[in-house]
Amino acid sequence: MKDYTLIALAYNKEVRIYTSISTKLVEKSRKLHQTLPTASAAMGRFLTASAMMSLMYKDGERLTLKIEGDGPIGQMTVEAKSGVVRSTIQNPNVYMVYEDGPKKGKLNVGNAVGQGNLFVTKDWKDNYFTSSSPLQTGEIGDDFTYYYAASEQTPSAVGLGVLVLNGKKVIQAGGFIIQVLPHASEKTLNRLEEIIKNVTSITDLLKDHHTAEDMLNMLSDNTAEILEKHDIKYHCGCTRKKYFNALSRLNKEALEEILHEDKQAEVVCQYCNKKYLFTAEDLQLMIDKKK
Ligand SMILES: [Zn+2]
Repeated sequence: MKDYTLIALAYNKEVRIYTSISTKLVEKSRKLHQTLPTASAAMGRFLTASAMMSLMYKDGERLTLKIEGDGPIGQMTVEAKSGVVRSTIQNPNVYMVYEDGPKKGKLNVGNAVGQGNLFVTKDWKDNYFTSSSPLQTGEIGDDFTYYYAASEQTPSAVGLGVLVLNGKKVIQAGGFIIQVLPHASEKTLNRLEEIIKNVTSITDLLKDHHTAEDMLNMLSDNTAEILEKHDIKYHCGCTRKKYFNALSRLNKEALEEILHEDKQAEVVCQYCNKKYLFTAEDLQLMIDKKK
């Protein structure tokens, strides 16, 4: 089954709900970045939220999201456009679990991410707008919920989950974003609150609700009317030409130094690990263009 997101209105059109299944794209990210379980979960939650968020904006708008926490994972970046995502992670080798308490044994994403900020940059026709909000728990879902309230003045509830098998492969990933529309009634808010209160663990929710439709019916108390269905996926659109142009932007002295010392330049794409080799002739061409 492909990964996808449903966008629906529910509760008498007073609430907008996004639900996603993102197992394939999160597993692809795990393989590409060779993440250990806690890093897989953090990156997977971040990718899932970003994919849904990118479907909220008009075509052509690219989002760059950054989580800068002081935990061992370090910085994570996601680029997202119309449900297509790619990501980077500073330290993929993080495996931390809760030592005690009700979550004992579960992946401790909060500590692995730590304290810091979530940054969201919207790029629409080369106009850039960045907003940010402080991380609340580092569990990603809470941090997006807070971001929507603080930066976009949209009361929301964000739930994200990644299930990792035997400490390695991602077997289930997904999540939801619930947005309360301005005209929502008190009655609807109470009903919604009751339902969200019962969702204690998103991974448990995913175990019982394997499809985005299932999740949507549960969250909407069977009142949902599906408006749109979108495929979501992990894809890096890098090309040799893009990296040639990026390298060309270095100043002349830097390019000459690479040419004389290394005789070539190898660039590895951080998003997909593809390698691009630029020869001495390529470097000379870049230098000549600057004259
Ligand atoms: Zn790439």
